Amino acid sequence: MKKGIAASKGYAIGHVFIKENAEVVITDKKIEDIKAEKEKLHKAITESRLQISKIKEKAIAEIGEEKAAVFDSHIMLLDDPEFTGAMEMEIENNSINVEKAVETIAHNFLAIFESMEDEYMRERAADIKDVSNRIILNLTGKMKGLDITDNDTIVVAHDLTPSDTAQLDKDKVIAFLTNIGGRTSHSAIMARTLEIPAVVGLNDITDCVKNGDLAIVDGVEGVVIIDPDQATLDEYRKRKENYEKEMKELKTLISVKAHTKSGKRVEVAGNIGKAQDVHKVIENGADAIGLFRTEFLYMDRDNMPSEEEQFESYKYVLENMEGKPVVIRTLDIGGDKKLSYLPMPEEMNPFLGYRAIRLCLDRKDIFKIQLRALLRASIHGNLKVMFPMISSLDEFIQAKAVVDECKEELRNEGIEYSENIEFGIMVEIPAAAVCAEELAKHVDFFSIGTNDLIQYTLAADRMSEKVSYLYNPMHPAVLRLIKMTIEGAHKAGKWCGMCGEMAGDENAIPTLVEYGLDEFSMSASSILRAKQIIINQD
Ligand code: PEP
Ligand code: MG
Repeated sequence: MKKGIAASKGYAIGHVFIKENAEVVITDKKIEDIKAEKEKLHKAITESRLQISKIKEKAIAEIGEEKAAVFDSHIMLLDDPEFTGAMEMEIENNSINVEKAVETIAHNFLAIFESMEDEYMRERAADIKDVSNRIILNLTGKMKGLDITDNDTIVVAHDLTPSDTAQLDKDKVIAFLTNIGGRTSHSAIMARTLEIPAVVGLNDITDCVKNGDLAIVDGVEGVVIIDPDQATLDEYRKRKENYEKEMKELKTLISVKAHTKSGKRVEVAGNIGKAQDVHKVIENGADAIGLFRTEFLYMDRDNMPSEEEQFESYKYVLENMEGKPVVIRTLDIGGDKKLSYLPMPEEMNPFLGYRAIRLCLDRKDIFKIQLRALLRASIHGNLKVMFPMISSLDEFIQAKAVVDECKEELRNEGIEYSENIEFGIMVEIPAAAVCAEELAKHVDFFSIGTNDLIQYTLAADRMSEKVSYLYNPMHPAVLRLIKMTIEGAHKAGKWCGMCGEMAGDENAIPTLVEYGLDEFSMSASSILRAKQIIINQD
């Protein structure tokens, strides 16, 4: 048994096909006819462009326009003067053979990308490798496709380039395994889109198998079993069957609106941290965005995002949701979330300190930039604004006053905004839950933030392993506060949602439905299962 990184879920049982890398020997040979060498390069680039365009067409048909866009960047690389142009210069300046020139320039580019901190950028080195290998294979006449003729094939390779993955014949290839790669590599992303199981980062899987070996791929746990015994085979056949049945059932729920058996409509929404995450939420059939954690727009950078940048992100999400509700939470920084460019006081208990709405009311300069961006974006969809960490009515009133200030500014500047924005609060401090009935008279909605509500109610730090045994969503005190919050909202005719992790917790959902929670917001991958639980409930 070998353990790697689970890159794409699912189970496969089949026979191994090892993808051999073509052997190409590149020498330092000098050349005399520079013009001829450059022509060889142009021919190889033209061939590569044609091949990539074909692969792109196949990818669009199989995985959709957006995912296939990676091949546009490959074509752009072929046309990039800094990349292929530099190869020409290399031939010219050093009278070096064309293969060596391609290798040298690709090597220089790879050194830059592979040393980047950002995992995503590091993975983009794969695109450079993919394109330069293709040029070299075309130059040496060694370019060949993956010729797979047998059904139930598990492709094993040192690495699979995005174009290798896109060329896999889905009727024959049921899984793939690679020595290297991570969850965010293009091949892993494509495997998830193609819905074939994949395990990557297996180190030496190419040395552990022979062509034709029987293997089990467990893309759920990231495990590979080579030459399994009968009992293991039987066990995995069962797991595979159950998994496929479950997936099939869940998929039928994508366009289903969740109602309990007694007819109560329950909204199932998604949580996002970046504007691009909206697509995963839509693919999983969400009714709404229940929480956009905007602090992620402020993180991993060294300055504040401008009003314009924020406006573009909010507009993107609103437009993509096509009129469905989008709850955007104002900046919730502090606690465990720090910004390198915003000095914060040293505190003994940062979770009880200067954070979220407390910080925003103190730093109106920062708060107003976000509110202006939100107001401006509001005309592009169904926006609801939510303030985090509200402990008293006064904070909500103060926050609304800043909104009014921004509205007035925009009016004076002749900039449009919607008059129909709902303003709500997160109920994540026990005080707010206890005072829910009072608060509900003033706000448009509640969303219960159980991640914090549980830690504050039980005095059990959500970040501490040592007290995690106390951090119990089903503690009667927590449940009572949740019930009070929902009832408080309903008494005032307002809706109540939940966007903490508990909303996607299979064990908690039935209780929350029973309490009358109107909206459940969770990570995209939990949405379909949550719908299934809700529609099976009385
Ligand atoms: C919560 O506290 O439940 C919540 C959703 O917010 P965060 O996890 O961002 O604190
Ligand atoms: Mg919180």
